[in-house]
Amino acid sequence: MPLHIPAWLNPRASFRVRLLFAVALISLTIVVLLSWLVTVIAAGHVGTPERAGEVAASMGLATLLVGLFFGGLALPILWIVAGRLSGPMHAIARASDRIRSGHEEEHIPVYPGRDEIAVLSQSLAQLVDDLKDQQQSLIGKNQELQLAAQVFASSTEGIMITDAGLRILSVNRAFSAITGYEAADVVGRTPSLLASGQHNQAYYQAMWEAIAKTGRWQGEIYNRRKDGSIYPEWLIITSARDEAGAITNYIGIFTDISERKTTEERILYLARHDVLTDLPNRIFFLEEVEAAIAEAQATGGKAAVLFVDLDRFKYVNDSLGHHLGDLLLKEAARRLGRVAQDEGFLARWGGDEFVVLVRRAEDADRLAILGQCIGHALRAPFEIAGHQLNLTSSIGIAVCPDHGEDLIALARNADTAMFHAKANGRDNIVFFTQDMNERANERLRLENDIRRALPLQQFHLVYQPQVELASGRVVGVEALLRWQHPELGPIPPAKFIPVAEDTGLITAIGEWVLRTACEQQMRWEEAYGVPLRMAVNLSPVQFQHGDIALMVGGIVKGLGMNPERLELEITESVLMDSQDQVMIDLYNLEMTGVQIALDDFGTGYSSLRYISQLNIHKIKIDRSFVDGLAEGSQNASIVAAIVAMARNLGITLLAEGIETAEVAELLIRMGCGEGQGYLYSRPLPPEAIERLLQDEGRQRSRHLA
Ligand code: C2E
Ligand code: MG
Ligand code: MG
Repeated sequence: MPLHIPAWLNPRASFRVRLLFAVALISLTIVVLLSWLVTVIAAGHVGTPERAGEVAASMGLATLLVGLFFGGLALPILWIVAGRLSGPMHAIARASDRIRSGHEEEHIPVYPGRDEIAVLSQSLAQLVDDLKDQQQSLIGKNQELQLAAQVFASSTEGIMITDAGLRILSVNRAFSAITGYEAADVVGRTPSLLASGQHNQAYYQAMWEAIAKTGRWQGEIYNRRKDGSIYPEWLIITSARDEAGAITNYIGIFTDISERKTTEERILYLARHDVLTDLPNRIFFLEEVEAAIAEAQATGGKAAVLFVDLDRFKYVNDSLGHHLGDLLLKEAARRLGRVAQDEGFLARWGGDEFVVLVRRAEDADRLAILGQCIGHALRAPFEIAGHQLNLTSSIGIAVCPDHGEDLIALARNADTAMFHAKANGRDNIVFFTQDMNERANERLRLENDIRRALPLQQFHLVYQPQVELASGRVVGVEALLRWQHPELGPIPPAKFIPVAEDTGLITAIGEWVLRTACEQQMRWEEAYGVPLRMAVNLSPVQFQHGDIALMVGGIVKGLGMNPERLELEITESVLMDSQDQVMIDLYNLEMTGVQIALDDFGTGYSSLRYISQLNIHKIKIDRSFVDGLAEGSQNASIVAAIVAMARNLGITLLAEGIETAEVAELLIRMGCGEGQGYLYSRPLPPEAIERLLQDEGRQRSRHLA
């Protein structure tokens, strides 16, 4: 509570107050002097001292009364005047007290006018407002400073602040965590204590020049930790200047990027390498080929690409599982590495295909020798998880510029040559020739055309009779697919079926064949009353795509056909492919009631185990054993063995490709039940089969009559 001093007592009262006060005192003094003077004069006139004393007494009283009157009159006036002066002062004092005690919303009262109080209140209010603004900005600055300190302390990036002379002033926690140096270790020293020795003088010079020019530098730098280890960091250096523009500090902010760099390097590695074998991948290989071609062109030299494909790797992979397949690939890659490392650049092209780039390939013989060494290295038996596996390889070679002047042509032609090596019976090395390209183009054309063949109804079926050898009676027919190409004419199945298989089109085509053959069988059986078996070939690829038993069952049931009349011919390679699934498929097929025949028996992996395990109804001895079959020959022994086995297992036998009566005779004698071949009939169009069936019907009725 501020002390309330009356205005007239206040020594700092304004001039006007003091004036009023003086006027009142002077007027009172004058009154008193006047009354004294009047008394003295009056007493002088009165004459006698007594009378004078009386007069003086009454005059004194009068004077006192007058004085009291004026005094009484002046006092309230003075009181009011002083009050008008001290009131605002008091209000101002109270307001400033409240502001001081923290009531920021409080304002100094402002009095209008030009008098002292007004002027004082106005300037005080202005002063207080200014002070408030300053305080506000100070608070803001303080908060900013606190925040900056927090950021500095808790930042995960290392921060180092130096003075203009590069003496370290302070470092944060992250700095210590990254470099291993505590603040006490480094304050007062220069940042050069972190130098790794990995950058030359010019590097640092360029850095300081950039800072001097732009006030900033950033980049990757290798520094040394306290423990001596070197690490990469991303560093940003900024210079701080005072108002006059002189540098006061340097601030270095950095992140340890060792982890990021390792990840980056790993990603870069993975992008150019194969994870399984650790060999360079196709991308890396093509880059190298491109560089080698450029070099060959510049120097007039040659570069070669060898395409190496592991033969029958798929069978290993499918039958022994992908894990063993992977182990085999790894081991193959290791062996290839040993052979090819001095001769060229080895990479994995994908799957079971490897490629070798030979940079100085002027000597074709040397290329052939390299191919032979590769083939030899892969031919040695592989010991994989207790299995002994034998592999061969097909190798295609294309040389730049002889067989292709650019990357794509060279790679494609080496691939084409490899394809031919495979087609030539595998385990082969083949150099590319132009003629191969023509064949490749032809195949490409077939691939394109076969896509349209089914919708354009370019396929039709012919049927080859199957006879009971002893009687010559037709017991069934085999449906064989034909493609009538609009420009190229009839194309043999051996040419287009592999293309249909590679493109996956065989699934749709095979389904069409099955439906068409089944419909035909039903029409014939109804028209001629002969129980006729219809044999239809299935491709191994049909087992890989979709549920084959469902497809077959659907067609047979849908048509209302007797399933026993349908015989599905599968090849031994079906049994080699992913066996578990094939077993299930074959079991499901059996459940639909159809018969299963093993086609081309003896040409593949004749797995006697599967034949005994599966319910195979018929074995078709391949034409290669039947053709030119003569008594006492090796083929005769093989056929005899097959006959014995089939008899023991209770399986019907059919010999394919019987062209002569002698062979037929021999087969009958050996105990083969059925046969098929040009001797009896070539594959025939449906109308021809109908005539045959009519004849058969007539003969039979004659026989019955
Ligand atoms: P395959 O199933 O072994 O068919 C028998 C092949 O031998 C047929 O050849 C037939 O014309 C031929 N042939 C029959 N008897 C004789 C003979 O006495 N001497 C000679 N030299 N050859 C004879 P084609 O029609 O050219 O068929 C070849 C192969 O194409 C078939 O062999 C079969 O594997 C496949 N194929 C045919 N049609 C289809 C089909 O619809 N689907 C599937 N997946 N494959 C089919
Ligand atoms: Mg067949
Ligand atoms: Mg066959």
